[in-house]
Amino acid sequence: MEEISTDILVIGSGLSGIVSAFEAEKSGLSVSLVGKFTIGMGTNTSMANGAFTVVNSRFSKEDHLKATLESGKGLNALHLVEALVENGPHAMEVFREYGVPLVEWGMGYAVARPENSSQLPGILLMKSLVERLKGHSIRLLPGLVIFDLVVEEGEIRGAFGFFRDGKPCLIRSTAVILAAGGAGAIYRRNDNQRSILGDGYALALRAGLSLFDLEFVQFYPLVLAEPRLSTFIFLPPYPKEMRLFDEKGEDLLKKLNFRVDLNRAVVTQRDRFSIALCEASQRGDVYVDLTRVPEKKWEYYPLNFLKKSKFPFRERSFLVSPAVHFLMGGVEIDERGRTALPGLFAAGEVVWGVHGANRLGGNALTECVVFGTAGGRSAAEYARLKESGHGAPNLFSDSSKKRWERKANAYVKKSRGMFDPTRDLLKDLKDIAWRYAGPIRGEESLREGLDRLGSMEKRIERVYPATLKDLFKKRDLENVALLLKAILKGSLLRRESRGSFFRKDFPDQDDPNWLRNTCYRLERGELQITHQPPKR
Ligand SMILES: Cc1cc2nc3c(=O)[nH]c(=O)nc-3n(C[C@H](O)[C@H](O)[C@H](O)COP(=O)(O)OP(=O)(O)OC[C@H]3O[C@@H](n4cnc5c(N)ncnc54)[C@H](O)[C@@H]3O)c2cc1C
Repeated sequence: MEEISTDILVIGSGLSGIVSAFEAEKSGLSVSLVGKFTIGMGTNTSMANGAFTVVNSRFSKEDHLKATLESGKGLNALHLVEALVENGPHAMEVFREYGVPLVEWGMGYAVARPENSSQLPGILLMKSLVERLKGHSIRLLPGLVIFDLVVEEGEIRGAFGFFRDGKPCLIRSTAVILAAGGAGAIYRRNDNQRSILGDGYALALRAGLSLFDLEFVQFYPLVLAEPRLSTFIFLPPYPKEMRLFDEKGEDLLKKLNFRVDLNRAVVTQRDRFSIALCEASQRGDVYVDLTRVPEKKWEYYPLNFLKKSKFPFRERSFLVSPAVHFLMGGVEIDERGRTALPGLFAAGEVVWGVHGANRLGGNALTECVVFGTAGGRSAAEYARLKESGHGAPNLFSDSSKKRWERKANAYVKKSRGMFDPTRDLLKDLKDIAWRYAGPIRGEESLREGLDRLGSMEKRIERVYPATLKDLFKKRDLENVALLLKAILKGSLLRRESRGSFFRKDFPDQDDPNWLRNTCYRLERGELQITHQPPKR
């Protein structure tokens, strides 16, 4: 087993991970940065539209606070929203310092793109961050998949995982920053990277942390749904000639009573718009038409990106549907990025609190920078204090090493018997997620989803890693099943509708009974769910 020692370990190389690594490195302590694949790639950040919601010349602190709280429908953690708004402008300065060009947009700043570039803004962003890593002393650990956090005597001691070549790895680290992103790809219809399967939530739950509000899943209204084409999100700005219509050719924005244009409906009314479109697509197909867009507009993003596809977007209308975009729930942190577990810090989509019942467009990237900076700084302070005079942490004790060697063997242990192919099982889990925990939920279907998941869990248990690929796939299956169970159970308990969360049997927001955050814990392997008033 490979052993590594570092002062600060960052799990995840998306925006929040890289920002926290840069910040922690300023302390002069040793920092290691892990990614499931090549550093920076396979991240949701690389898919992003590059919009940051933050104070600018036309959007004040009051506007930012108000819009975020309105979107969150009473479930935001106020102290975190205040920290986001207050520290947002500094986050933009951090970016300028990194050399990422930004331009002002309605509610903040966006990554500036060279004229006529058809590259996703997220790719441009990640490329400049990864390029900048070259001049730094941060140790990069690409292709390392973390399976467990190491917790001893009530504090974090590091993490355990496998490299893609199957070699197990035990990392001793005084402080750990969890920046492992969200979980959108646990759903059949989603616009996330395929590997974003909720590892961070599962790592935190198994380490004994409480997670909050996992039932709040954000759906993006307009995602390509043409069979045989990969799901592709239609990001604003949309040209005014773009039309959204149903099978009868009727304009859906008007029919569904949205009194704003498509751009505003997607950015500011994402939840209501997704639910309405999901209901509309249950009655018949929903289409987007771009054929009336004048030739010169196809030279610019995002249309120049579509132009590269073999699909004739300029000549015919095409099917769209809502799809999973973002998870509002996650790990609780304070303003300084600290979790309840000493030595563990967290940042980015894996974190709960800022968004409440629905995320305001553009707040996720700002959150990554604000809390990535805070987490990196706090992790360095913690490590320095813990190690004062002792230097970098020693490797693990012999008994501890033996325990992790036994665990590594258990993960790769082969057994005889029949088992389902891991790819089929993952597909089944994604189907359950979409069908029973999708945009429109109800008691009967949630119970059915839980029953189906129960029998899936037994099939997952029987899987053994016949190949190296199966070793990673089995962990994916366990993580997805755990998170999905939490979402289904939490959704069953919440008997109201709020923000992105819609129960057709309880269609109204019910403040007297449900102005409450949901708390999920894993106790002796069983999920425990409780509710508590929002933190003010
Ligand atoms: C299509 C799309 C467009 C978007 N556009 C915007 C936008 O314009 N503005 C906005 O504010 N938000 C946007 N978002 C949301 C935003 O991009 C994400 O919330 C944000 O980028 C998440 O960053 P992150 O650092 O938390 O995680 P990610 O960027 O997803 O990175 C996660 C990292 O964790 C690693 N990881 C995960 N599990 C493990 C493990 N077990 N072991 C080791 N490493 C692990 C992954 O390999 C990866 O490196 C968009 C999202 C999507 C999908």
